[in-house]
Amino acid sequence: MGVAQTQMRSVGPLARSVTVLWGVGPERGAQLARLGIRTIEDLLLHRPRRYEDRRQVRPIGSLRLGEAATTRGRVVAMGTKLLKDRRRTLFELVIEDATGRLHCRWWNLPFMEQYFRIGSEVFVFGKLTSDRPPTMDHPETEVVESDEEDFVHLNRIVPVYPLTEGLSQRWLRSLVWRALNQYEAQISEPWAGAVILGAGGLAEARATPRQLGLGEAEIPAMPPRARAIRMLHFPESLEDVEVARRRLALDEFIALQCQMQARRKRFESRATALPCGGTNLLIKPFLARLGFSLTEAQKRVLREIRRDMAGRHPMRRLLQGDVGSGKTVVAACTTLMAIESGYSVALMAPTEILAEQHYQTFKRWFDPLGVPVELLTGSRKTVAPGLADRGSREADGEAPRLFVGTHALIEAGFAPRKLGLVIIDEQHKFGVAQRERLVRKGNYPHLLVMTATPIPRTLGLTLYGDLDVSVIDELPPGRGAVKTIVRTQEELPAVWEFIRSRLAEGRQAYVVYPRVEEDEAGTVKAVTKEFNTLKKVFLPYKTGLLHGRLAPRQKEQVLAEFRDGKLHVLLATALVEVGLDVPNATVMLVENAERFGLAQLHQLRGRIGRGAHESYCILVMGAATPEAQERLKVLELTNDGFAIAEADLKLRGPGELLGLQQSGMPRFKFGELTRDFELVRYARAIARWLVYGSAG
Ligand code: ADP
Ligand code: MG
Repeated sequence: MGVAQTQMRSVGPLARSVTVLWGVGPERGAQLARLGIRTIEDLLLHRPRRYEDRRQVRPIGSLRLGEAATTRGRVVAMGTKLLKDRRRTLFELVIEDATGRLHCRWWNLPFMEQYFRIGSEVFVFGKLTSDRPPTMDHPETEVVESDEEDFVHLNRIVPVYPLTEGLSQRWLRSLVWRALNQYEAQISEPWAGAVILGAGGLAEARATPRQLGLGEAEIPAMPPRARAIRMLHFPESLEDVEVARRRLALDEFIALQCQMQARRKRFESRATALPCGGTNLLIKPFLARLGFSLTEAQKRVLREIRRDMAGRHPMRRLLQGDVGSGKTVVAACTTLMAIESGYSVALMAPTEILAEQHYQTFKRWFDPLGVPVELLTGSRKTVAPGLADRGSREADGEAPRLFVGTHALIEAGFAPRKLGLVIIDEQHKFGVAQRERLVRKGNYPHLLVMTATPIPRTLGLTLYGDLDVSVIDELPPGRGAVKTIVRTQEELPAVWEFIRSRLAEGRQAYVVYPRVEEDEAGTVKAVTKEFNTLKKVFLPYKTGLLHGRLAPRQKEQVLAEFRDGKLHVLLATALVEVGLDVPNATVMLVENAERFGLAQLHQLRGRIGRGAHESYCILVMGAATPEAQERLKVLELTNDGFAIAEADLKLRGPGELLGLQQSGMPRFKFGELTRDFELVRYARAIARWLVYGSAG
């Protein structure tokens, strides 16, 4: 997706340069360009950063301390003085109305003086910083000029725009007003009337709710685009503003979804699927020796996958399942379907540790079946040198196999000829571009993307709108409960004692720190430093150390010892967050827990509760602020990864969510992913209808 284009690009009159507008010459044009405004359309979509209700201007005498308000008065005094330190300046403006006087102050902005004149009328927006005398510091102002355009700026709700040096609110507002009047009739419905808009909205409807796969009630009522744009700038009520935002957000979402659906359709028209439905010849014995039976959810997902793998178009499927829901077994069965059909498989993991673990797991599972498994990471290859020859050797009848690896799989040398399936684990750590590069290795192999982090629904549809989705919504039975508790620094000694009692019962524990080494302030705990203390605290039990700066060999060794039970406690950074599977570990202690995102903590917690024993996730706050307490409480209250991801999205915003920045998160001008799930879903249905002719 890269930097996604979420705005439609018009052709025609709205695509004209703003310099065709009266009063916009090269200089104004350059100033507007600094705001990203180049065309008429850019100008019409310049989103106000707030609104001012000038039908209800507050008298100066009614202003209250600390409360933001707009007032209006006549300039009665002004002046600039040099402060005692002889460096800073203070410009002061005094305005008056029938109820009192207001002092406005600006530091170090001496040029402010040129904007005002004694006797002129001024709007002032800000908060009182003192009420004796009433004073505002650095308020926003706008001089009232009496001209034929008064009605644009007075006695209505007016937009207040982001500005750049040299432009005034009043000038820009007039410009938008004139552009609107001149071009409003040219603003057409962008989706060729395909969008159906609910009651009170656009009458021209070409798709029925049924064709969109939605119920009547799910169709939002919305104004036509032209009206929404007018409402955006000159709303009649503040509710209008939200109505306009939602309509314009819908258009952004449809534009993005259309791109995704079109990409998918292009892909389908080019690619015929490799027949990978399988024969059950390997899966049967595999399941028989597994030692447990699949959950209903795993079986259902496998049926969906098999239908794709035997279908006409290459599979493009996202497998979502909470931590511990058993995605790896599903990946194994999917791999076997391809191998039974005579094709090789590439499984890509985000870290070497995880690739190594998958390699071990799959070797254990596949060796008895005689299916070769090879590991390919930056630092380690179990494959003979001369990878480039692989393709030709396979063509010579070498058995199909599983390649497990990291980014090394994307590199040029890796090119198995009969690649039938690509599986990507923990997708959010990869960008969409990387995903595409791996898929291009073969002759349109099937693609299965697995995410451990539950992605909030809106983000899921936005990032993976071109993928079909399967969900494992059930955990395997026989898991011990996981208790989550929040503790403070003072309670640490009791926590150590508790962990020792678990170790005495034969269990193991993780202790996670935010940093590898101490920072200057020493406020955030670092794993290397704590290691020296803690390894003594836990004696005679053995403590190991794991962090990203160790050599791959060392990492592997530490992990192997922990897995084999030779180490009892593992001190680590968040490196252990993804995928590790050591069922005997029943304690996850996270220090400075307030430093981690909720979704990330949920991932860490997912490392325990994998066996039959009761498990404990202990979150220790570095600083016990009320915000930290409230945030961490979410984890005490729920184990539901999706609920946690939604909470994280609301608390921290989409950009902050685990690595999502790298995955080509589109930017929206009007869309708000924390609130617009229904709109995104509606947009996807419309886009599918537009691109495919049905919402299917
Ligand atoms: P994740 O979805 O987080 O990748 P894993 O695939 O690592 O989860 O599975 C977690 C653990 O549960 C593993 O030890 C796995 O062997 C086990 N497991 C998976 N499916 C089942 C099942 N149906 N019954 C019992 N245990 C299962
Ligand atoms: Mg996993």
